[in-house]
Amino acid sequence: MIRQISISDLRAIADQYGVPVRFAGVDWEVLTPEERKIWINASCCMLDESSIEIGLYDDNELMAISFFHELAHVLHDHMLPADSEDIEYEIDAWKIGISIAAGHGISFSTKAISWALDQMKTYTPKGMMAEIDKYAEEKIGRPISQ
Ligand SMILES: [Zn+2]
Repeated sequence: MIRQISISDLRAIADQYGVPVRFAGVDWEVLTPEERKIWINASCCMLDESSIEIGLYDDNELMAISFFHELAHVLHDHMLPADSEDIEYEIDAWKIGISIAAGHGISFSTKAISWALDQMKTYTPKGMMAEIDKYAEEKIGRPISQ
């Protein structure tokens, strides 16, 4: 990444799209150890409310790539055909998120993109890794399935 991106940078970008965003530990208290565990390196979006919740990250680049992934869900998910498999939604949301970030002059390191693609490994059936591997080869120069 060109520079360390901050929560206020991400807030400003969300504002440009009119998408409400909340950051764990800043906009709401993370109380119990169980809740903390759930929100470490994890984020989500509420499609019904078109809003984003960003968890706790000790690496701002991972926070940023997750933010753009969730932003892509909010901005683009309803444009995908309803019969798309969940995994197609997911890979599209990472791809679209990375390109939205590029539109704001933000590019991600190989490490961050590998991390993002690794998030999908856990819930992707083996037969569907081909598309993720193709994208990984294009972006980081190697497949991630091995
Ligand atoms: Zn997602």
